[in-house]
Amino acid sequence: MIRHHPGDDLLLAMAAGSLAAGPALVVATHVEGCAHCQAQLQMLESVGGALLEGLAPEALAPEAMARTLAAIDAVPLQAEATMPRAERPVLPPGMAWPRALETCTATPWRWLGPGMRWSRLRLHADPQAKLFLLRIGAGRSLATHSHSDSELTQILHGAFHDGRDLFGPGDFDAADTAVHHQPVVQGGSECICLASVEGRMRFDSPLARALAAVIGM
Ligand SMILES: [Zn+2]
Repeated sequence: MIRHHPGDDLLLAMAAGSLAAGPALVVATHVEGCAHCQAQLQMLESVGGALLEGLAPEALAPEAMARTLAAIDAVPLQAEATMPRAERPVLPPGMAWPRALETCTATPWRWLGPGMRWSRLRLHADPQAKLFLLRIGAGRSLATHSHSDSELTQILHGAFHDGRDLFGPGDFDAADTAVHHQPVVQGGSECICLASVEGRMRFDSPLARALAAVIGM
């Protein structure tokens, strides 16, 4: 039961292709498993098409067609970057690797603290995109932090509560500079999240901040 979805602003940016590669990957991972957002995205795409049809031909940039063709050409390149299954971080039984992540490479799980691990994802289309998998043990929590910009999170496995609300499998969260939270893993299961970080995560604890800086989080 998915309770938290990306806002229409994010879906519209996704439909228009104007989201940066990192955030777009998190939204795509959500949409892949959410019938509600698939329908919403389809609706927004048709609205966008209708808007474009209403534009005078000269309003379209002359290079628009060339850009579109170049984007189509780029698809096989991305597909080539697909990581062999054997090199993916090992997932808990029953958890599937999202199709949207097929074009990423990912490091094996790395230590982040007691009961906490992380994996760095890299996108062929944007190697600088700050994309992470976070794997946090049952009953554990991520240190209290805020954000210098925005953090998009898709919950892939397990659940957490961060004082604002409960986020479970399939849920999506967009946290901006106003959000100051501590995600605490709920239930008897560990929690695995996909996160895209624009700017920096600002941990309250100096030690956590130092660790985040080392990781580039
Ligand atoms: Zn949704």
